[in-house]
Amino acid sequence: MEALYFSPMLLGVNLVLAVAIAATALWVVARPIPGPAWWMAGAWMLVAGVLVFFLFVVTRSAALNILANALQLAGEAVLMLGIFRFVGRPLPYWIVPASVLLIMAFNLHYWYTAGNSDFLMMVYSLIAGLLPLQAVQLLLWHRDEPATRPARLLVGVCLAIYSLVTLLRAWFAAEAWLSGQPYVQPYESFSYLLPYNFALPALLMGFIGMVLMTMQRILAGSRANAEQARQIALRFERLLNVSSAGVAVLKDGRLSDANQQLEALTCCTREQLLGRAFEEFFPKRARTALAKLLHDADGNVVDVDVKRGDGSSFPAELRVVPLDDEGPGDVVVELRDIAHRRAMEEELKRLATVDPLTGALNRRSFNSQFERSMKRAARHKSALCLAVLDLDHFKIINDVQGHQAGDDALCQFSQMCLGEARSTDLFARFGGEEFVLMLPDTEMEGARIILQRLLDGASRLSMVGARGAFSIHVSAGVAQFRQGDTLDTLMQRADRALYIAKDKGRNRVELAD
Ligand code: GH3
Ligand code: MG
Ligand code: MG
Repeated sequence: MEALYFSPMLLGVNLVLAVAIAATALWVVARPIPGPAWWMAGAWMLVAGVLVFFLFVVTRSAALNILANALQLAGEAVLMLGIFRFVGRPLPYWIVPASVLLIMAFNLHYWYTAGNSDFLMMVYSLIAGLLPLQAVQLLLWHRDEPATRPARLLVGVCLAIYSLVTLLRAWFAAEAWLSGQPYVQPYESFSYLLPYNFALPALLMGFIGMVLMTMQRILAGSRANAEQARQIALRFERLLNVSSAGVAVLKDGRLSDANQQLEALTCCTREQLLGRAFEEFFPKRARTALAKLLHDADGNVVDVDVKRGDGSSFPAELRVVPLDDEGPGDVVVELRDIAHRRAMEEELKRLATVDPLTGALNRRSFNSQFERSMKRAARHKSALCLAVLDLDHFKIINDVQGHQAGDDALCQFSQMCLGEARSTDLFARFGGEEFVLMLPDTEMEGARIILQRLLDGASRLSMVGARGAFSIHVSAGVAQFRQGDTLDTLMQRADRALYIAKDKGRNRVELAD
């Protein structure tokens, strides 16, 4: 017992046990990196092998001796397989059954023929010494993954030392066998103690190298991940800035990121934007709707008014989408300035209602507005007059002064009438050189005065055409609304009055009956 207590064997088994525990810890920490699981399994098999060997020393049972040797070689082989797994090479599984079967065969032969123990030791050491050679070759010459190369070299050198020591042991055993030296107890044999004193420390160092190369891989992986994250952040920022809209990321309703366009749109610096509550960019009355919009984050586009940093505001389209797929989290908001679009829409609307040459209302727009005024007049029993105005001998003006001068005359006349008209009056071009004027709350006599003023104004307009200066004259017919009138009937009466005006010599106002 004392011999065992002071023997390197006990130290050896404790070292192997320490390696097994450390390998288990490594496996837990480094998952899912391939390799540590095999090292853990191999180390525990080694521990089991050495413990069974102790039992054999005590019991001298042949079966325990065979099992101990098989377990130890199997453990060593599994450790080596772990190295193949770590570097991603196909695993030479055959080394496990080959070494186990070989040692079992020689061990059985030893027990059944009362063979030579030095010979058995030689066989065992040969197998144990040759087992790591494939892994050593792989570790020293495999050039992939430079990050783990230093530690791989360390493991390769340590395993090579282990191999050498074990083969040296085979050599000593062979010498003892061939020279027929008497049997000595294993724990008293120099060649048996050789592995405990030298090979095991080399194996331990090798294991430390395995831990290092695993850590180097983890480190390289996290460095690569960090770099990837940096690249993604950079691309995200570039993407944000590429957008023509103002884009921001909101965390709990506050801006955590914003692009340059948003700075420009809101007239705020980045520092002023970040951390600011998004709702501050909107009038108080819109904040309830905004909160719902941010909560729903359904990507629908809504029109909003956004306040700038300088107090002014602009119309914008707002779209809110979630940044993450799951659950309520950060949202991305997109603000697009639509002032230009609004102005265009207004302009389009205006163009759809006015005559492009003269700026007067067009016929369609006049008709719809006139209907409303007529109904109101009918309801309130208020006066309403409709005048039809027609430029006199305009064909001759066109023929003599040119079409361009004719256009110019139409424009000037129209502008003059629009200038004279009250805001409630409607002045429209009905076609060619014919205009209509609706005068609400106006009796016939009042209409005549207004029309006469327009006719006088037209006469005073001075124009220049192909044949020099010229002026225009206008005739007008006026009719007053009566209950039951439609636009057509009223128009017919005004037209009739206009014909009378033309008949009576033009440049005059004629009132319908
Ligand atoms: P009246 O005094 O009886 O109204 O004679 P008129 O020549 O004015 O009437 P007529 O209906 O015979 O001619 C109308 C002319 O107005 C014919 C056409 O050349 C001209 N005209 C119609 N639309 C335009 C336009 O947009 N631009 C110009 N320059 N001329 C137009
Ligand atoms: Mg005409
Ligand atoms: Mg005319």
